[in-house]
Amino acid sequence: MSRKLEEKFPLTKYHIMTTSTDRRFALKKIIITVLIMSISFLFTASCTKREDSNLINISATIFPLYDFAKQIGKDKVSARIIVPAGADTHAFEPRPSDMVRLANCKLFLFGGSETEPWAIPFINSVDNKDMPVIDISQLHEHMHSHTHAHPHNHTHSHAHTHSHAHTHTHSYDHDHSHSHIWLDFDVNIKTVEAIADALSKIDPANAEFYLNNSKNYIEQLRKLDADYRNAIKNFNRKEIIYIGHSSFESFVERYGLKLITPYESYSPNVQPSAKAIATIIDEIRNSGAKIVFHEELINPRLARTIATETGAALSVLHAAHNITKDELRSNVTFIEIMYQNLENLKKALSD
Ligand SMILES: [Zn+2]
Repeated sequence: MSRKLEEKFPLTKYHIMTTSTDRRFALKKIIITVLIMSISFLFTASCTKREDSNLINISATIFPLYDFAKQIGKDKVSARIIVPAGADTHAFEPRPSDMVRLANCKLFLFGGSETEPWAIPFINSVDNKDMPVIDISQLHEHMHSHTHAHPHNHTHSHAHTHSHAHTHTHSYDHDHSHSHIWLDFDVNIKTVEAIADALSKIDPANAEFYLNNSKNYIEQLRKLDADYRNAIKNFNRKEIIYIGHSSFESFVERYGLKLITPYESYSPNVQPSAKAIATIIDEIRNSGAKIVFHEELINPRLARTIATETGAALSVLHAAHNITKDELRSNVTFIEIMYQNLENLKKALSD
């Protein structure tokens, strides 16, 4: 035991007052108390280092939600992505330190149980039952619940209107086409409104601040959407050759593009079959596509093989599940990632 702790808990007192058995018990009790105090101190220290107690702690499972929280809360919030930089957001397993942090969390944001199946068990495991939770798949359901039955009659509560073709020309199993909905900029507008609303309830004194920030950010999302639509109008090709797990279905559906991929599921870990790889190589040769896309955060081994085989170049289509440590350090934003995707798509689809 260090001198400091001895000073704090003088042992001599117990030496005098207790029998030998009692003394051992007393000593044990002191050690346990000190250990508990040290552990709680360490946890408090690790939280306060990153999460100032005056700030509103927000936890997000995926990068876009973390970024939205920062854009709206700015210096009044401490936002974090629960999944470590560079790690897979779909198959994440929360650690004990995540549970400690979640106990102090004021707002929890996640992409839905399809993409983050661990999120609901995680929040249920922590005693923080009053914490508001925003599940963006529910926002999406709410927006699109009647779209399929009446494709021309649906309305949105915001001023911006658009038409969904819903022709389903892509080769996907439609069951998964509404996952990864953070790549739908209309859903993002709803998400931003929901975050501003939640922050205004948590911190009513700054409600106007959150509302103004959300309005500014929604303008940026609308501009992003308009820039995509204007660029895509001029594309000569509609097919994106994508060697990655299913992430861009709602995105391609939205912009009338088509995704060609050998992956058959939305798990990054289920490798495509040899037959699917042979088929995509044929499709690239037949279409004359010059660029093969791969997903972020993985070694693009398969994409490189397919590119080499067909003489195509490699490029990234970033689905923004998560970002690397370098991207985190450089404070990259969701909107920047989406504009980089647009540049990469222009190069691939304009020829
Ligand atoms: Zn994914």
